[in-house]
Amino acid sequence: MSEKLTKLKDILAQLNRLTLVNELLYWDMRTIMPKEGFEGHAEATEHYETEAFRIETSDELFELLGELSKPEEWDQLDDDWKFIVKKMREEQERDRRIPEELFSRFVAAQTEAERAWEEAKEASDYSIFSPHLAKLIDLTKEVKALTHPEMEIYDALLDDYEKGMDSATIDRIFTELKEGLVPLVHSILAAEQPDDSKFNRKYDLDAQRKVQKLLLTYIGFDWDKGTVGESEHPFTLDLSSRDVRVTNHFREDNAIDPMFSAIHEGGHAIFEQNVDPKLDGTPAGGCDYLGIHESQSRFFENILGRNINFWKPIYADVQKLQPEFADITLEEFAREINHVRASMIRTAADEVTYCLHVILRYEVEKAIFREGVGVDELPALWNRKMQEYLGITPANDAEGILQDMHWSDGSFGYFPTYLLGSIYDGMFLEAMEAEIGSVDTLLAEGKIGEIRGWLNRNIHRYGCTRLPKEVLLKVCGREATAQPLLKYFREKYAKYYDLR
Ligand code: ZN
Repeated sequence: MSEKLTKLKDILAQLNRLTLVNELLYWDMRTIMPKEGFEGHAEATEHYETEAFRIETSDELFELLGELSKPEEWDQLDDDWKFIVKKMREEQERDRRIPEELFSRFVAAQTEAERAWEEAKEASDYSIFSPHLAKLIDLTKEVKALTHPEMEIYDALLDDYEKGMDSATIDRIFTELKEGLVPLVHSILAAEQPDDSKFNRKYDLDAQRKVQKLLLTYIGFDWDKGTVGESEHPFTLDLSSRDVRVTNHFREDNAIDPMFSAIHEGGHAIFEQNVDPKLDGTPAGGCDYLGIHESQSRFFENILGRNINFWKPIYADVQKLQPEFADITLEEFAREINHVRASMIRTAADEVTYCLHVILRYEVEKAIFREGVGVDELPALWNRKMQEYLGITPANDAEGILQDMHWSDGSFGYFPTYLLGSIYDGMFLEAMEAEIGSVDTLLAEGKIGEIRGWLNRNIHRYGCTRLPKEVLLKVCGREATAQPLLKYFREKYAKYYDLR
């Protein structure tokens, strides 16, 4: 190995130590930190993130990456290291355009806004959060103008979360989906709805934790490389392929949402746990293309978890752990997890209307960054679109514009990746069935391991060494299209809702 590559590995090891501290602080803040611990955590986070940023943007690393890109060094690198050096160079060039002072201001604003959002949501009062949101929008514009001077701001934001997936492609496939989906949602909502009164009961919280354990184990979460916690909003945290954590939020009045959160976050975790270990500790060792990531969590959650066959081998065990389900048959349960409703909350939405929740956010973000719509106008815009797509209007800010945490940490351009994930899933399902046969049959026979194996082989092990468009071409042999997802929705819901 060349001296230069050894040096790069040393710097990466240094960065990994700082990242580990930052991630643990984040984990702690979100899960068990007492309220008064906030100041200390926020200060430490700012310190360690700034420290990592300094190394990432240092002249030393800049020169080293330049050296490694010269033919005599470059030619000695294997494909993975070529990818890593190229990725680091691109990111570094962008980061180096951000003055340290601006970066610190951004991190501080982010931390403050996260806290304000939590307070605002609790009080259901958007005015507590809106000045922080306005500040984050301005800072985001300031940062992007420096890092991506060649790109329009919203395009640059999309590119941050799903590299290479431009807004022209996203507009095309979202439109394709919206045109097919709106009439389908209308006929579903007009059809006879199942009786869900049986589900309206109290569910023991400890039993829910046990069911989560069963589900994570069943789908293949590796407990030697992962752990669980509880937070206001479920998330997955990837420290390395050997330490991947998921959280959940349990409530007494609903045991089904947490089951699907567990399967969803479990899908994210299984991806990270199965990246080729040779990529550990490098920028290719995790996947930072969020659309591709969401495709994996949503494949487990929806394509598998909302299929009645998924539950056939385990439903009796679920009933034993959570006796509140004892008088609910598997058919009734399957009917309920595929119950399509016009509802306010994205994270609790069924897989069909979920798509419209995301399209709404995509359009609101375009309004902010392309049309310059101000923060004061956003709640009304939000409510108008809810009415237009789902025929309902939020009663307050908490169930409207404040429901998601994403904008509180400046994650603009993130929401579309959820829908990209579902669109990719339609494509992956088609490719998978062509290769290993009917998913219904595999699930009913308890062979979920074969399905996971296909995902491991075709997607997980590569980490982020394949860009999203490349993944689609390699795995599905074609460009992004919403048609397979629409076909999946039409066939599945025609049965559940007796549609013609
Ligand atoms: Zn997710």
